[in-house]
Amino acid sequence: MLKHHIFIFLLLVAINVNAFVQEIGPGVFVHIGKHLDIDDGYDGDICNIGFIVGNDSIAVIDSGGSYLVANELLKYISENFKQPVKYLINTHAHLDHVYGNVVFSDADIYGHKGLPKALKSRADIYQRINERYLGKISERSPLILPNKFVEINKPEFIDLGNRKIRLQAHQVAHTESDLTVFDEKTKILWSGDLVFSERTPVVDGDIHGFLETLEEINKQDINLVIPGHGVPSSKKYAIQPMIEYLDTLRTDIRQFIDNGESLEFALENAASDQKDKWLLFDIQNKRNVNLIFPIMEWE
Ligand SMILES: [Zn+2]
Repeated sequence: MLKHHIFIFLLLVAINVNAFVQEIGPGVFVHIGKHLDIDDGYDGDICNIGFIVGNDSIAVIDSGGSYLVANELLKYISENFKQPVKYLINTHAHLDHVYGNVVFSDADIYGHKGLPKALKSRADIYQRINERYLGKISERSPLILPNKFVEINKPEFIDLGNRKIRLQAHQVAHTESDLTVFDEKTKILWSGDLVFSERTPVVDGDIHGFLETLEEINKQDINLVIPGHGVPSSKKYAIQPMIEYLDTLRTDIRQFIDNGESLEFALENAASDQKDKWLLFDIQNKRNVNLIFPIMEWE
């Protein structure tokens, strides 16, 4: 863990943390969101968004939680590049990643084939959250659905001009609509929320599928992972802590169920030895247990 922190520190020194976006690899730009919980002053700017630049066009990956942050990204792109944003890729259905879509509504919007359904089923609650936390900003951040779809086990390739990116839709893992983007040129993977760095991982899909998907990603030849939240890092420092947390959580919950312990007991004790390794642990770990425990009771 100490090593992990040292690595993050070095990475932060190497890049300009004050800039709105940082070039993390040649032609790969990322804006790092803040580590705020949704109940903790949510402002629509908590996840990583960014873009990849080809000779002919630009692909934006995730649009943030409101038109404001998306506008800032578009402004940066327009001021610095002549290529148009032809593609927007949504990594999954969570509100902090998609409510800036409206700013890129002229682009082809790609998502997991399960994304429209996932967004529609969450739309009412997301609308209420946005109104509550973003106020007037939410009025200018309507939900815009994707119009291009990627099926599981059928990767899509987009050519940005002398630069190919691979879009891959995954089984139910972090959510039911996880999509990753791999830049062949730099071997940089945009993982969406399949990877969290620093901040406690969120399970809003299936813990078994989540672990399987991470094991698959772990086998791939990747130079750098851009997580959905937190600083980018090498595969080892990105994926291994995720597997460790999820595996501990699953093992503990299984053990508690076998021992006849209650959900309340699991809420207090599951994965407790991971507590010091992650930010926002108490609140998010409990949410994860709340989702997983009742499902695993039936397994
Ligand atoms: Zn998410």
